[in-house]
Parts: sequence; C-alpha cells; structure tokens
Amino acid sequence: MPWNKEIECMPVEEIQKLQLEKLRETVAWVYERVPFYKQKLDEIGIKAEDIKSLEDVAQLPVTVKNDLRDNYPFGLCAVPMSEVVRVHASSGTTGKPVTGPYTLDDMEQWGECMARNLWAAGIREDDIVQNAYGYGLFTGGLGFHQGVTRLKCAVVPTSSGQTQRQITIMQDFKTNALLSTPSYALTMVERAEDMGVDIKKLPLRVGVFGAEPWTTAMRQEIEERMGIKAMEAFGLTELGGPGVAFDCEAQDGLHINEDYYLAEVVDPETLEPVPLGEKGELIFTSLQRRAMPMIRYRTKDITRLRRETCDCGRTFLKMDKVFGRTDDMLIISGVNIFPSQIESLLLEIPEVEPQYVLVVRKKGYLDHLTVRVEAKQEIYDAGPDKEAEVEKKISGHLKGMLGISVRVRLVEPKLIERSEGKAKRIIDERPKE
Ligand code: ADP
Ligand code: ZN
Repeated sequence: MPWNKEIECMPVEEIQKLQLEKLRETVAWVYERVPFYKQKLDEIGIKAEDIKSLEDVAQLPVTVKNDLRDNYPFGLCAVPMSEVVRVHASSGTTGKPVTGPYTLDDMEQWGECMARNLWAAGIREDDIVQNAYGYGLFTGGLGFHQGVTRLKCAVVPTSSGQTQRQITIMQDFKTNALLSTPSYALTMVERAEDMGVDIKKLPLRVGVFGAEPWTTAMRQEIEERMGIKAMEAFGLTELGGPGVAFDCEAQDGLHINEDYYLAEVVDPETLEPVPLGEKGELIFTSLQRRAMPMIRYRTKDITRLRRETCDCGRTFLKMDKVFGRTDDMLIISGVNIFPSQIESLLLEIPEVEPQYVLVVRKKGYLDHLTVRVEAKQEIYDAGPDKEAEVEKKISGHLKGMLGISVRVRLVEPKLIERSEGKAKRIIDERPKE
C-alpha cells in the first residue's frame, strides 16, 4: 500500500522513539565506516551510545556542502562500490556538484518516500503521469519516475525541454498529472497559450512541483492558469533527492518523512537550535540511508518547523514552504532580501507577467538591486509613459514592503529566458572577489 498509514499517522512519541533508535544506528554506521565522521566524532568525544535523547543530536557536528566537495566524489561513502547501485549528482546551482550514491535499500526507501509524496498529492493507479523533471544525473527525473512506478501508474518519461512536444503529449495521452519544477510549469502554460491550447480544458488534474523555491502566489497562478491542484515536493541530492518532505491535501506546509529524516532548524549564524515555529536554517540527518548517510546536513534553506495535527491525519512534522536559500539572500542598503518576497509582490501586480530576474550590481561600496520584470503585452504596447507609471507603482510597493528604494525596469514580453528546470532568479554582476 503506497499510503503508509501506520507510519505516516504514527503517534508522535512513537515516531520519536523510532528516530532515536535510527539516529544511534546511523551514527554508529558512519563512525565505523567513514573516516571523516570518525574523526569529527572523536574530536568531540561522542559515540552512538552517548545519544540518549533526540535533543542530543544538537551535540553532533554539522556537515556542510564543502565537506562533500572536499570528499568528492566518494570520500563520504560508507559502503564499498560493490554495494552501490546508483549515483546521482546535484545540479550544481551554487557551484561544483556533489554526489549522491545509493545502495539497493536506499533506492527502496527513496521509492517509498516518492510514492508517499505522489499519493498525498492525489495521484492514483489509473492516472497517466507526465514526468517533466530532467532525467539524468539530476535526482528529479529518476526519483519521481520510481515513485510513479511504485504507485502502478503509467509514467510518461518526457524529461524536461521540448516544450511544444510536452503540450502535444499532454493532449494526445490525456495526461492527468504533471511533474516538473514550478517555473517549467509556467513555461509550459505559456507555450500552450501560444499554441492555442487551453490546458484548463485538458484532463490534467494535478501537478507535483518542486526543486526550487516558489511562493504561494506562484502556486495560485499555476493553479489558475492550468486549472489544476498544484502540490509540492521538497528534497536535495545530499539527502537522497526529492521525497524528503511533501504536501498533503491541506496544502499548508510539507510533511517531513520523519522515519527517514530528522529535521532541525537552527540560527544560521550561531547554529543554536531555534524553537518550533521560528524561522531559521533547516538541518537534516538521514536516519536509514546507508551508502552516504548525512549527519546534520546544513541545507541553507530557510523555513520554520511546526508540530500540529493536520486535517489529513498525518502526524509527521511540518515545514513551511521554503522562504529562500541563504545563498540567494541579498543585502541591499543593509536590508536582507529574498527573491521570494519580491516574487509575492510581483504576482499581485496585474500589469506584469510572473517572469522576473533580480540584477545585483556594485556601485561604490554598495550593492544595488534592479528588478527586471516583463510587462504584459498591452502595457508594453501602450508605450514608455505607461511603463514608467507601472515601474513607479511597483517600486512604491517594494519600498513599502522592504523600506528601501529598489529600481524596477519593465522589459518587453518574452525577453526573460524561460526555465526548463530550475529558474535563475538572480543575475549577479558584482565583480568577483
Ligand atoms: P542544487 O543545490 O545544485 O540545486 P539539488 O538539485 O539537490 O541541488 O537541489 C536541492 C535544493 O533545491 C534544496 O536545498 C532547495 O534549496 C531547493 N528545493 C528543492 N525543493 C524545493 C521546494 N519544494 N521549495 C523550495 N526549494 C526547494
Ligand atoms: Zn497533512
């Protein structure tokens, strides 16, 4: 049964008991097999048996992306290659990629996590599922593929790109569910509109979108323009890819697969734990992975954790929609800005399309931000005066929200490069140090 009620609705105390047991097993596993972890644990003098409660996880050393890069490609692997059956690599959004090896058991777990995700999104056996996440090294394509197969649905492995063909397939195959990044979903809607196809009238019912930050406003935009329910998936290569956390029908935060992942949120500066309900950097420890387990991996993703009863019946801890990555945080005139704040605002402005980039430049010692956003055709056609009026209106709203002046430039329709995977929201034109 893909919906693992026994686990997903387990009483919290029982999940936590299971987590503690698995945490100790994982620490013992890496201590014996990964010199990097042995050294780190020896330095602070902690062994698996010293972990008496889940809170003790805070005493363990954190792992950061650079640790994976330093040990590239297989230095953190805890099993011999003869037990590895798959190797993925991160998309390298923020630099040199990192690897993710899997044992056969790791693959099973991953399939289970993905199946839970798709089931919770309402995807069922008789559905035809078009998988437009990129196939290949990226965990999205093959990860979702496996989940769909586990649900015994028909998977159509279109991978990303060839957008016109995606639309044709969607029409011809009568696709019920679409899997892609949210930005690619938007690219598809636009292309369909250009082709004279109204996706709202097709049998498409639901999408499962993830792999990049997107706002609730963007979710609504996609739901309206496609006439579907837009559900969410969250994960990262270091933790085995998508399937770490998923949306349920309540669409109010993502349930974390707690039997496989132990989540914490910490202050990114001090690494002190922050209480439930407060924002900070998300940290995960994998609890049952064997090829390359992660102890306290710092995701750089900013969110909040919530423990509450959900209408869906699941007891798994919830994380809010990711607010942004610390890597993408801009500091403009002393104010911290995440692209998601600007995205939410732009989506409320009827004169522009939800296609934007943030350009950061250095002027003197200070960073300056220009928001480039596409004008709707009729605004562009109305000429420069109208554009200037809209620019002024948006920068006024931005000033109200952020407290600082930000330049806004309307650009002509279709000028901003469309995404087929992860959208690039920031163009950094500051000189490299
Ligand atoms: P890369 O770091 O190269 O992009 P991954 O493909 O492993 O490599 O991407 C993982 C990252 O993608 C996460 O740490 C997070 O920043 C982002 N991500 C994945 N799913 C979501 C989501 N649902 N919402 C926001 N961000 C997400
Ligand atoms: Zn729920």
